[in-house]
Amino acid sequence: MALVMKFGGTSVGDGPRIKSVADIVLSIKDSGEMPVVVSSAHSGITNMLFEAANRALKGDKQAAESVRARQKEIIASLDLDETLVDKELNKLEEMLHGVRMLGELSPRSLDTVVSFGERMSTKVIAAHIRSRGRRAEAFAAYDVGLTTTRRFGQARPLPDAAEDINQKVGEILKNEVIPIITGYIGKSEDGCITTLGRNGSDYSAAIFGAAIEAREIQIWTDVPGILTTDPRVVPSARLIKALSFSEASELANYGAKVIHPSTLTPAVEKSIPIRVKSTMEPSGNGSVIIPQSQRSEEIVKAIAHKDGITLVHIHETRMLGRPGFLSKIAKVFQIHKIDVDMIATSEVSVSLTVEDTSHLDRAVKRLERFAKVTVVHDRAIVCVVGEGLAETPRTIARVFDAMANIDVPIDLISQGATRLNLGLVVPAKDVKNVVNALHQELFPE
Ligand code: ASP
Ligand code: MG
Repeated sequence: MALVMKFGGTSVGDGPRIKSVADIVLSIKDSGEMPVVVSSAHSGITNMLFEAANRALKGDKQAAESVRARQKEIIASLDLDETLVDKELNKLEEMLHGVRMLGELSPRSLDTVVSFGERMSTKVIAAHIRSRGRRAEAFAAYDVGLTTTRRFGQARPLPDAAEDINQKVGEILKNEVIPIITGYIGKSEDGCITTLGRNGSDYSAAIFGAAIEAREIQIWTDVPGILTTDPRVVPSARLIKALSFSEASELANYGAKVIHPSTLTPAVEKSIPIRVKSTMEPSGNGSVIIPQSQRSEEIVKAIAHKDGITLVHIHETRMLGRPGFLSKIAKVFQIHKIDVDMIATSEVSVSLTVEDTSHLDRAVKRLERFAKVTVVHDRAIVCVVGEGLAETPRTIARVFDAMANIDVPIDLISQGATRLNLGLVVPAKDVKNVVNALHQELFPE
């Protein structure tokens, strides 16, 4: 069976890291499975390419120099042919020359400029594997079927792409070649290079994994997997062995640094598990995100937290008990394009949280036409996540016991509509204390 293995920028960030990646990939090949590698650019290169495009726009003739230097350094450290990516570097120079001459940088040109990161890193990885006497070849995603919409910077695969990918990648695997495919990029039907958005390589991995119906999609990174909470807040945070897609989504929404699950939907639709693993610790099992819901004995999987939250209390003054209060409020937030995260209501009042406060003043003015409004800044959301939480009052009681012990006031409580999260709004200054107390209670050592 085939296994999609995606490596992030840090994992392919220098010669020694690329060697470990090759070790990992080859050990899978030797175990009898067929690795399909999806790779990011070497860490830092994509940012340099964005910067190069902007410098070319301002007239800089040397805009590509930092990219060239870093790329050449990596190639030299692996003893590869120094001209390995000269074709790409020259094309990049040509593009940047065009940008400079025209004094214009369209989203379309920008996507082409930044596509070179992955187009070069995959060539380096494939050449290194070949230098070890094994068969590997670099492919631009669009040469193995990834055709996308024309939305530059945020392209999406076209409906026919999956079938095309399956056929083309299948052909390569039949020849016992390890394909090293570019993450992040694709091409429109009329031949323009596109990108899927920053950090898009996870999405590429999900697209390829779903298309070839891989046994598993592995996201190789520099952390051991997904942890029970932020290790900067709780150093004893532990690895989560398995979590459901819904749990991972809740965690990501509430600030956890997990891969963003929206990028995994192609894999989830095909019920393909996604495993997050560390290249520093390849023998570890990492964390696996499974498409189906699955309750575990301990119920709670993780605690996420998010700072920078503002709480808005809206108290109805005039239309006591009349219907339509909620929709009036919703409309105000809609008009001012403010995203609401958590919400709690009573007959005559509504409390909600927002993150982006740039238009809040105007929204408050409008709300004050029919309600009394109080805005409380410097809040944080702490979110306890686990399948079955809503049906397990004993666990919920433990959460509130822990809160009682540290005596931190709770501004708002929300048991999510997904029934697997319990959100608490607390003063931002207390968030570390809260997360530590909850972690100690729910994940005792
Ligand atoms: N290289 C791209 C970026 O830095 C895509 C990725 O790393 O996933 O955004
Ligand atoms: Mg990256």
